[in-house]
Amino acid sequence: MRVIDLTMRITPSIRVFPGSPKPSFIPWSRFDYHGYDAEAMFMSTHTGTHVDAPSHFAPGLASIDRIPASRLVCNALLVRAPKRANELIEPADLVNRQIRKGDAVVIATGWEKRAAKSNYMTENPGLSGQAAIYLAGKKINAVGIDGPSIDAGSDVKFAAHNILLPRNVLAVENLCNVRKITMNRFTLVLSPLKLGSATGSPARVLAII
Ligand SMILES: [Zn+2]
Repeated sequence: MRVIDLTMRITPSIRVFPGSPKPSFIPWSRFDYHGYDAEAMFMSTHTGTHVDAPSHFAPGLASIDRIPASRLVCNALLVRAPKRANELIEPADLVNRQIRKGDAVVIATGWEKRAAKSNYMTENPGLSGQAAIYLAGKKINAVGIDGPSIDAGSDVKFAAHNILLPRNVLAVENLCNVRKITMNRFTLVLSPLKLGSATGSPARVLAII
């Protein structure tokens, strides 16, 4: 068994979605005064590698704390679909991939290489509406992507979020290291924090091959 960490490191300089706050870790206790070190943190629940709950785009549906633990460890399928800036992932990229009900479909576009670049958050590739409809029809558990959003940077209407989250498909965004996944099928572990009523959470995301 090999474990591959698909998680970005969260630092104050990490790129964040336009309009979102940069994360900060605020020193809270001091070892020399309290006898222990600790910090408080301030960040969007959609910072770094994170899981979107259905309630992110469908108020009234499950928030992140309501996702059953049984959905957080699942069979996963890697789909390699190299894409350029703002290029769409289409149904043609997904057919003949043997997607099974309950899978997490992890899409490797190659965009993670640009995680430090200024256009990482704004010109990323993403799913077309038709591709999102195709995935929803497969009754998958989750869709993951090596970019900041399952929607392309140019899609101001968030087509894929609006199709998949109301249909109870989780989105896993800002994955990294997907090029290290050497198998088409693997086990995906998602570990969002159990934040009461929140629409998402940073998560440690692991591939087990
Ligand atoms: Zn999100």
